[in-house]
Amino acid sequence: MTRTVQRAAYRLRAYGPRFTPRRVLNLAANRIAFRRQASRLRTMPSFVTLEPTNHCRLRCPLCPTGSGRIRRPRGFADSSAVERAIDEIAPFAFRISFVGYGEPFLHRDLLAMVHRASCRGVLTSVDTSGTLLKTQSDVESIVESGLSEILVSLDGATQESLEKYRRNAVLEEVLQGIRSLIETRRRRRRRSPSVCLQFVVMKHNEHEIPAIRRVARDLGVDRLRLKTCTSWGAPDPENYAPSDPALRRPTSRASKSFSRRCLFPWQAMAIDWDGTAVPCCDDWDESVPLGNVFQDGGVRSVWQGERYADFRRRISTDRAGIPLCRDCPILLPEEKSL
Ligand code: SF4
Repeated sequence: MTRTVQRAAYRLRAYGPRFTPRRVLNLAANRIAFRRQASRLRTMPSFVTLEPTNHCRLRCPLCPTGSGRIRRPRGFADSSAVERAIDEIAPFAFRISFVGYGEPFLHRDLLAMVHRASCRGVLTSVDTSGTLLKTQSDVESIVESGLSEILVSLDGATQESLEKYRRNAVLEEVLQGIRSLIETRRRRRRRSPSVCLQFVVMKHNEHEIPAIRRVARDLGVDRLRLKTCTSWGAPDPENYAPSDPALRRPTSRASKSFSRRCLFPWQAMAIDWDGTAVPCCDDWDESVPLGNVFQDGGVRSVWQGERYADFRRRISTDRAGIPLCRDCPILLPEEKSL
């Protein structure tokens, strides 16, 4: 089976059970509004990212949080406000990703939030450094929560290369956490969470692609994702960009994909830990705040509100005039099939 067929089969398995008439109609209405470039929507977001926290114990040099470049306050999402948001979103959204500019597992209520969303039939995912999967009870709770997918970032096949970027991470601890998670899932005869190992290809680890493939195979993860590196405006991205140009993410606006229209404001919402909605998860320092879903009347009110409508108008007519979107790395190919 080719990788494309494998991915299509996986998506069908993952999203199949999420199809309800309400979600499908909502997504269709979002797509129609996008085609028409309508600015005022009467729908809800179909895909949501929710940031549990922007605290992290690692010090990844390109990351706005790890490098200390992030200017917005640090904190943890209010669990009851998140639960209200989940209840509002769940009938309409296919997926809620618990991800942002911090380590989600530092939030003590993360798995309760995941459980609430999973019980409402939403596909749930968590992106993590894998450094907090320490005890058997940690991994048992993850499997019990109903989490659909976990993406573990492991940018090194050896301790030496891992800690060049994921500073403070310990390779053997991450590997052991993944092993116990997969073993617990097997013992409990569960298919979820599906485990994806993500390897961001950089200068110091580009020679380790064959080695990380072996690591992924030995661990028995469901998927290995080789991702191109993004710098989030860090001053020294060249220090990390791979030497092999084929492994770099194109950054030029001349790239063909720049001419593609951005679908995000018509179907997805990113919510930061304090409830601030931004157009997509690339807006790490809230350059385009679109309202606060914990304070301004909820997700629907923000999504259908004037600030979102105004942003949709601006991105339709003058995307290059929005600094966030001008050199958007998100619309450029980020994944490598190597
Ligand atoms: S930064 Fe990119 S993905 Fe985000 S809203 Fe702008 S164009 Fe879309």
